[in-house]
Formats: sequence, C-alpha cells, structure tokens
Amino acid sequence: MIARTSLSWQSDGWQQELAAGFRRPHELLAALEIAPERIETSIDCDSPFSMRVPRAYARRMRRGDPADPLLRQVLPVAAEQRAAPGFSADPVGDHAARRGAGVLHKYRGRALLITTGACAIHCRYCFRRHFPYAEEHTADNEWEDAVAVIAGDGSLREVILSGGDPLALTTARLARLVHKLETVPHLSRLRLHTRLPIVLPSRIENGLLDLLARGRLKPVMVVHANHPNEIDGEVVAALARLADAGVALFNQSVLLRGVNDDAAVLTALSEALFTAGVTPYYLHLLDRVQGAAHFEVDIDTAHALHRQLREGLPGYLVPQLVREVEGEPFKRPV
Ligand SMILES: *Cc1c(COP(=O)(O)O)cnc(C)c1O
Ligand code: SF4
Repeated sequence: MIARTSLSWQSDGWQQELAAGFRRPHELLAALEIAPERIETSIDCDSPFSMRVPRAYARRMRRGDPADPLLRQVLPVAAEQRAAPGFSADPVGDHAARRGAGVLHKYRGRALLITTGACAIHCRYCFRRHFPYAEEHTADNEWEDAVAVIAGDGSLREVILSGGDPLALTTARLARLVHKLETVPHLSRLRLHTRLPIVLPSRIENGLLDLLARGRLKPVMVVHANHPNEIDGEVVAALARLADAGVALFNQSVLLRGVNDDAAVLTALSEALFTAGVTPYYLHLLDRVQGAAHFEVDIDTAHALHRQLREGLPGYLVPQLVREVEGEPFKRPV
C-alpha cells in the first residue's frame, strides 16, 4: 500500500486534487461552517469568472470566520459587478505589449509568455480576469511560434512563463516548451510566475523538479502569497524541494484591503517566506481591473504600511512597493 504522504508527490496526484477543488461558494462555506448570511456582501454564484479553490488552500482558512483573509481572496461577491471609475478590463496594457503567439514584451531583456489561461485558483482581484485567453492559443505548435518570436530577438536573456498559471500545464507539456526554449542560445534564465506552490503544493512533484534541476537555463520562480496563513507545512516542504533543485525563490504579493493591509500581517508574511527560503520581491498596488475596486488600498495607507515594514524588518525582507504603469520601462516604485 502506498503511504498517504507519498501519494501527493505522484505525478498525477495533483491533477486529481485540482479536479476535486471547490467550485461552488455554498459548498465551500458549508465546509467552513459559515452561514452564507454571515458574509457581509451578497455572494455571486453566477460570476463569469467562476469560483475555484483547491482543498489544500481551503484547509488553511479559519472555520466559522466570514472575514477570513484567504476566503476573502477567492469568494465571488456581488461587489465585483459594480463599475468603478478608473477600473478597466486591461489595466496594465497587456494588449499593447503583445508580440503574437502569447508573447508579451514590455521590459528589456525579458519576455513574458502566456502559456495557458488555466489557474488552480481564481483570485477575485486577478488583473487577467478579463484577458481573452482563448485568443492566445496554447497548442504545442503555437509554442513553435512563441519560441520563434523569442529566438528572433537576441536582446532577450530571460523568458518568464506566466498565464494563467504555467504550472497548471502538465509536466510533460511544460517539458516540451522548456526543451524548445533551451535551444535558444541567447537565453540564460527561465522564470516561472506561479501561485501553485502556495495553493496546490502537491504540484511540486519529482518530474517537475527534475525538469528544473537538469535544464540548461537557470531556474527562477516567483511565487504569489499574500498572507502568512497561506504558508503551512505542506507549502514549506514544497518550497524546500524547489530550493534543493536549485530554483531561486522569490515572492510577489498584492496589497489587498481586508486581506493584508496591516503591517503586522505583512511583517509576518515576510518572515514566514524567508523561513521557507523565499525572498520577498514585490508588493504590488492593485491593478485597477474591473470587479476588484473593493480590494483597493489607498496610496497614503500603502505608503504608511511600507514605511512600517522598513522600520520593523531587515532591508532584505522588505518587498518593493510597485505599481505597473502602461508604457513604463519597469514596474514603477511608489
Ligand atoms: C512584471 C513583468 C515582467 C518582469 O518584471 P521584473 O521587474 O523583472 O520582475 C516582465 N514582463 C512583463 C510583461 C511583466 O508584466
Ligand atoms: S493565480 Fe495569479 S493569474 Fe491565477 S487567478 Fe490568481 S492572480 Fe490571477
């Protein structure tokens, strides 16, 4: 018999877990023993950006707490339908940066490749919630086109696999892409932007670790955690396996009202990340995407929080507070 703990490291264990995630708000609330009427705004069961929550993530939510910071990140609410001035469908100018075949080129030396529209979790504040993923065809032959775009630009040193979530692809598909990228001589780094090590740590299975450890390109991973409660023992173990495979680990967070707009929470997050071998990298101001206005933290509060982090943490644990501005040559520090 296979021990229960080793099961989650099997290559298809994570896909079963993904399929078993919560898809209906009332089912998640029932599991958390929260009566729906205790949620302060009404729940939206028919959002076109449907609810999606892995059970591994839901297990870290506090039972009976309608204000839980993890629950708030994933529960679809009616407030998402309110139009807010200044909030648009494409707040960061991704359309303008498209080079075709899912390649976005905004910053020197780095190109970002949209590998898939799929995510294991649907974060309600996601700036790509309206992105027309269907147009970014992700069949393997299309990666030929994406790799050709990257191979044709000798100024590139790094490819960032993004999405959606690149680790929502199977390891076999990811390997086919990575092996193609390895043939491009001017590339030296492979970066993955992924929330899967946090929300579905069983995704960090041996096949993926081999792919990252044995490749020609230096692997870098930027994970995405917003609250220290997201980092439990399973996540710490997954991150340790990545570090052992030689992956450089960083974290980006989004500053979110009612989730992490609190200096003590952000301090605890930086400390938990560092203990898990991850360096805090960016703290993003919310991208002003339609449907996310209720998560916005005003700029003065953001500055004050960042200052408190500076006062309370060693400099290397203070993430850069940034905002993405369309047309700028880098993410703008604020
Ligand atoms: C954020 C981003 C990058 C990476 O920027 P860094 O400052 O290197 O983290 C690259 N390309 C695009 C399109 C991005 O949005
Ligand atoms: S994991 Fe990232 S891309 Fe996916 S829904 Fe969340 S914020 Fe968006």
